[in-house]
Amino acid sequence: MTVLIPQSLHDALAAATANPDAQIIQGGTDLMVEVNFNHRKPTDVIALRRVDEIRNYVVTADKKNVVIGSGLPYREMEHGELAQLLPALAQAARTVGSPQIRAAGSIGGNLGTCSPAGDALPVLSALDAVINLQTATTSREISVHDFMVGVKRNARQPGELIVSATLPIINGWQGYAKVGVRNAMVISIASCCLVIDREKGSIGVALGSVGPTIIRCRETEQWLAMQIDLKNISIVAPNLLKEFGDRVAKESKPIDDHRSTAAYRRHAVATLSRRLLTRANTQ
Ligand SMILES: Cc1cc2nc3c(=O)[nH]c(=O)nc-3n(C[C@H](O)[C@H](O)[C@H](O)COP(=O)(O)OP(=O)(O)OC[C@H]3O[C@@H](n4cnc5c(N)ncnc54)[C@H](O)[C@@H]3O)c2cc1C
Repeated sequence: MTVLIPQSLHDALAAATANPDAQIIQGGTDLMVEVNFNHRKPTDVIALRRVDEIRNYVVTADKKNVVIGSGLPYREMEHGELAQLLPALAQAARTVGSPQIRAAGSIGGNLGTCSPAGDALPVLSALDAVINLQTATTSREISVHDFMVGVKRNARQPGELIVSATLPIINGWQGYAKVGVRNAMVISIASCCLVIDREKGSIGVALGSVGPTIIRCRETEQWLAMQIDLKNISIVAPNLLKEFGDRVAKESKPIDDHRSTAAYRRHAVATLSRRLLTRANTQ
């Protein structure tokens, strides 16, 4: 096995382009589990841990977006400026694994694995994030909705690196909530991210662990926008709140598996989405 440890993004892109079949590793918190179980036996590995350019974030000059490097560990999203700009991402980051996992695990890895249970992914979806992919000679941007194509499948091409994700800074409210079998070190049974953009008067609702990939509840979003003024949202009437959760559950596509049942997952996303909408009105 050869392990390349590039020291710059330029070298990492060159290495990935020269060897498109090489296994990329960032924090290793997903990949090493696969290797330990013999599910993957990489021959060539490109380790990105020393590529500082992707372990950072920048706020764009117009202050409209945050560009998060694919290698930025969750630990850096939990507090400080980034948490103020993207509170839902901070809430999601705080639920990931343990402090050790959050010190190594990254958005790039969450996107690379593309599990429907990935905690960063509903946040990226509800905020309509754009994923930035590069090779040594090409660069493209793809909507996160087109990037996530199925259970642990994404639109990355061989030789491409996930370099960053661009997320909008919204004037409004955003939150993330998840249900698992305990409160820490747990993969979600169901999760929900809700974003209200008060300037645009729009809402984004995205669900995790209740379908082959992250689900955006577009019909429920449109329905709610017809029922209430999202620019001046106040207390949502109990009957509307109930219908909102019921509609969210209807848009989910859960299955029974070793973690939970489809019926419980439907119930969970209805409850989580109602809770988040209630919080949006009171905070
Ligand atoms: C004990 C434990 C608990 C966990 N708990 C959670 C949890 O609560 N929530 C959650 O969402 N996840 C959890 N995970 C899974 C994991 O921590 C996350 O998915 C994390 O985001 C993976 O990031 P990483 O940098 O470690 O990825 P890696 O393991 O390094 O990579 C994962 C995949 O992404 C690819 N990849 C990584 N970076 C790039 C890149 N820049 N370009 C192209 N491909 C890339 C790799 O090739 C690989 O296929 C847990 C894992 C463990 C071991």
